[in-house]
Amino acid sequence: MNPEVIQTNGLYAITLEFASGLVGAPFFDAINRIVKQESARIHLTTSQKIMILDLSKDSARRAREILDELGADYKFPKQVYQPRVCVGSAYCKLGLADTLRFGERIYESFAHFDIPFKIKIGVSGCPASCAHSTFADIGFIARKSGYRVYVGGKTGTNPRTGQLLAKSVTEDNAMEILNNVIHLYCKECDLGQTRPRVFHTIEKMGFDEFKTRVISYE
Ligand code: SF4
Repeated sequence: MNPEVIQTNGLYAITLEFASGLVGAPFFDAINRIVKQESARIHLTTSQKIMILDLSKDSARRAREILDELGADYKFPKQVYQPRVCVGSAYCKLGLADTLRFGERIYESFAHFDIPFKIKIGVSGCPASCAHSTFADIGFIARKSGYRVYVGGKTGTNPRTGQLLAKSVTEDNAMEILNNVIHLYCKECDLGQTRPRVFHTIEKMGFDEFKTRVISYE
């Protein structure tokens, strides 16, 4: 697949994903080289990705050669994206859970899984919800007793707050719920919608039925 996306000015953009938003030194070096060599610009996206802008077709090819050597992950449509993850207990005094580790687990398990349209995932280390977890298709918010899980949220022109699905959830059980939500969305999503999201699936089957089908560990 080709990650290049055409811009309004006819040039191309490439968007890089990083598990838990952690960017290693080799990528900074590579991106710096691309910026200098190809006169590109960098945009830090609202979803913690790095977008390389203003690439000609040849520049994009050369940039990808550099990035591919490092094993870069690219954003592709209709795949599970890099979750939005706050720094959590590893770096934030308010953090109640190791969100960076959880985010990396999610990315390792589900990144680039093919889906009908879009699933946004948020992982926040405390109720401040810096990762906007209640506005994600599935969001996790750490409490002292474990994660709270919210489903069916979204931003956009008609934003929705996610519904509370489960409380006091361990990281392992959160992974299981996430797996079930992704698969249920793929199986039951309303393909009559041009942009089917998780909340459409919840509306289609009802919240209670949805909950019964995604919480399998109880
Ligand atoms: S959500 Fe909580 S733990 Fe995470 S960065 Fe914000 S304040 Fe810190």
